[in-house]
Amino acid sequence: MCEYCHTYPHMPGCPNAPEPEVVGTCAWCEEDIITGEAYAEINGKMYHADCIEDMSAGKLAELFDFEIKENAYG
Ligand SMILES: [Zn+2]
Ligand SMILES: [Zn+2]
Repeated sequence: MCEYCHTYPHMPGCPNAPEPEVVGTCAWCEEDIITGEAYAEINGKMYHADCIEDMSAGKLAELFDFEIKENAYG
Protein backbone atom coordinates (compact mmCIF):
# COMPACT_ATOMS: atom_id res chain seq x y z
CA MET A 1 0.00 0.00 0.00
CA CYS A 2 1.34 3.40 -0.96
CA GLU A 3 2.29 5.66 1.95
CA TYR A 4 1.17 8.79 0.07
CA CYS A 5 -2.07 8.02 -1.73
CA HIS A 6 -2.96 4.73 0.02
CA THR A 7 -4.08 3.34 -3.32
CA TYR A 8 -2.71 1.03 -5.93
CA PRO A 9 -2.33 1.87 -8.76
CA HIS A 10 -1.31 5.28 -7.47
CA MET A 11 -3.55 8.31 -7.69
CA PRO A 12 -2.54 10.83 -10.38
CA GLY A 13 -0.05 13.26 -8.85
CA CYS A 14 1.15 10.85 -6.15
CA PRO A 15 4.89 11.29 -5.53
CA ASN A 16 5.36 7.52 -5.77
CA ALA A 17 3.53 7.17 -9.08
CA PRO A 18 5.73 6.33 -12.05
CA GLU A 19 6.12 9.01 -14.71
CA PRO A 20 3.57 8.40 -17.45
CA GLU A 21 5.28 7.35 -20.63
CA VAL A 22 4.43 9.57 -23.57
CA VAL A 23 3.86 7.52 -26.70
CA GLY A 24 3.02 10.40 -29.01
CA THR A 25 1.14 13.64 -29.50
CA CYS A 26 -2.48 13.89 -30.49
CA ALA A 27 -2.79 15.71 -33.80
CA TRP A 28 -6.21 17.01 -32.77
CA CYS A 29 -5.80 18.46 -29.25
CA GLU A 30 -1.99 18.59 -29.42
CA GLU A 31 -1.68 17.00 -26.00
CA ASP A 32 0.43 14.02 -25.07
CA ILE A 33 -0.85 10.52 -25.58
CA ILE A 34 0.40 8.44 -22.66
CA THR A 35 0.66 4.74 -22.00
CA GLY A 36 -2.73 3.31 -21.10
CA GLU A 37 -4.74 5.85 -23.07
CA ALA A 38 -6.71 4.66 -26.07
CA TYR A 39 -5.57 6.17 -29.33
CA ALA A 40 -5.73 5.60 -33.06
CA GLU A 41 -3.15 6.08 -35.75
CA ILE A 42 -4.58 7.53 -38.93
CA ASN A 43 -2.45 8.37 -41.95
CA GLY A 44 0.67 8.43 -39.78
CA LYS A 45 -0.84 10.75 -37.16
CA MET A 46 -1.99 9.82 -33.68
CA TYR A 47 -5.28 10.79 -32.09
CA HIS A 48 -6.85 10.12 -28.71
CA ALA A 49 -9.84 7.82 -29.04
CA ASP A 50 -11.76 10.43 -27.03
CA CYS A 51 -10.83 13.16 -29.49
CA ILE A 52 -12.09 11.08 -32.40
CA GLU A 53 -15.38 10.64 -30.59
CA ASP A 54 -15.70 14.42 -30.31
CA MET A 55 -15.06 15.07 -34.00
CA SER A 56 -17.73 16.08 -36.45
CA ALA A 57 -18.58 13.80 -39.36
CA GLY A 58 -16.95 16.30 -41.71
CA LYS A 59 -13.66 16.19 -39.81
CA LEU A 60 -13.77 12.40 -39.68
CA ALA A 61 -14.34 12.27 -43.43
CA GLU A 62 -11.25 14.42 -43.88
CA LEU A 63 -9.14 12.20 -41.64
CA PHE A 64 -10.31 8.86 -42.91
CA ASP A 65 -10.48 10.06 -46.48
CA PHE A 66 -14.09 9.24 -47.20
CA GLU A 67 -16.80 11.33 -48.73
CA ILE A 68 -20.11 12.44 -47.25
CA LYS A 69 -22.63 12.58 -50.04
CA GLU A 70 -25.73 14.69 -50.20
CA ASN A 71 -28.61 12.31 -50.52
CA ALA A 72 -31.15 14.27 -52.50
CA TYR A 73 -34.80 13.31 -52.49
CA GLY A 74 -36.40 12.06 -55.67
ZN1 LIG B 1 0.80 6.43 -4.38
ZN1 LIG C 1 -6.38 14.40 -28.25
